[in-house]
Amino acid sequence: MKESFKRLVRASLLTVGVLTISANTAYAKEEISKFEIVQEENKYIDVNQAIKEDQVQARLMEMPIAEELRILEAYELTIGEEFIGNFEDSQEVIQEIRDMVEKLLYDNQLDYDLIPEIRLEKKSVLKDEITDIKDLRYKVLYQEKIEETIKIDQDIKIDDFISKYSIDKDEFIKLNELEEKSEILKKDMEVKVYEFTPKILVRQIEEKSHVKKIAFKTRKVKTDKLYIGESKVSQEGISGREKINTKYIYENGDLAKKYVESKEILRKKQDKIILIGNKERPKGMATNSFIKPTVGRYTSLFEYRWGSFHTGVDIANGMGTSIVASDGGRVIAAGWNSYGLGNHVKIDHGNGYVTLYGHMVGVDVKVGDRVDQGEHIGRMGSTGFSTGPHVHFEVIKDGVKLNPLNFIK
Ligand SMILES: [Zn+2]
Repeated sequence: MKESFKRLVRASLLTVGVLTISANTAYAKEEISKFEIVQEENKYIDVNQAIKEDQVQARLMEMPIAEELRILEAYELTIGEEFIGNFEDSQEVIQEIRDMVEKLLYDNQLDYDLIPEIRLEKKSVLKDEITDIKDLRYKVLYQEKIEETIKIDQDIKIDDFISKYSIDKDEFIKLNELEEKSEILKKDMEVKVYEFTPKILVRQIEEKSHVKKIAFKTRKVKTDKLYIGESKVSQEGISGREKINTKYIYENGDLAKKYVESKEILRKKQDKIILIGNKERPKGMATNSFIKPTVGRYTSLFEYRWGSFHTGVDIANGMGTSIVASDGGRVIAAGWNSYGLGNHVKIDHGNGYVTLYGHMVGVDVKVGDRVDQGEHIGRMGSTGFSTGPHVHFEVIKDGVKLNPLNFIK
């Protein structure tokens, strides 16, 4: 049997602009509501005349309607959750954002992250919903126009100056009430610009490392293995080296945070250890160093004198000046010497060294006494072969007379 009737559906007939279209869904109404709906009526229409959802937009775009009501393909720009605008040319938007990012970089050699997410989505919009690309910068870089005053530090072209601030030349001239054809800003001039309050955050991370020296410490350790007054380095100090890796985080060109990411010991430090003697020194024990045995000036040195060799040094001072043991030891001679030394003292230091002190006016030790370094042994005089009060001082090693000035100052 032949179909003899048309299937009818209930639909809204919407008169939009100069056309009437029919649609049967809420979706169509929603889409069409962007336009001025001239008339709406509900009718039963042929099912074949009803417009399906997916055709609504296409039909609207085909319509020969007034220019301002024309639907255009555009790109909706959102930053994070925020709608910025609809732009006709996506490439222009991308280029503008690249330029903005460039101005917010700390170092254009470093990678960067852009926060929050920037999205461009294709959309159909009405012509009057399109945003002028010229407004994009202001919308992104300045949430509000906060004026900032800058002092010009050297003559600069307006074009060069404003390139740093993303301000339109006309707007800059107007804001600063400059003459319309101005080109140069003079040194010390104060001008107004807008402070950046960007909606985007350009983050860059720079990693740097440097090597730091770690100084060693010197530790003194008392020991009974050394006598009081003695010391010995038992371990040399070595400074350490540490590699410090630091992360610098720049946000919109400014240092926002800096922290030590890691440390690496390249060389461990080693403390210097000095052993300090703590053991009581036995009476008369040699320290193995010599001191000047009295106070006075050198009047004869260890050298040829009057046709013979002078085997010690002479130190002169007033009669009775105290003479002390040059090092600790045992007295092996004390008293008169008939070979020209007069009253003299000899001390055996027990380590191969013997010291001799001549021409004393008085001897205050006797053979067999043990004396410490610096201990009084007699008084300066001019006994024996002598022309005035002095001490004749000798240092003898294994029977050989040595220059005392190699041992004392
Ligand atoms: Zn002498």
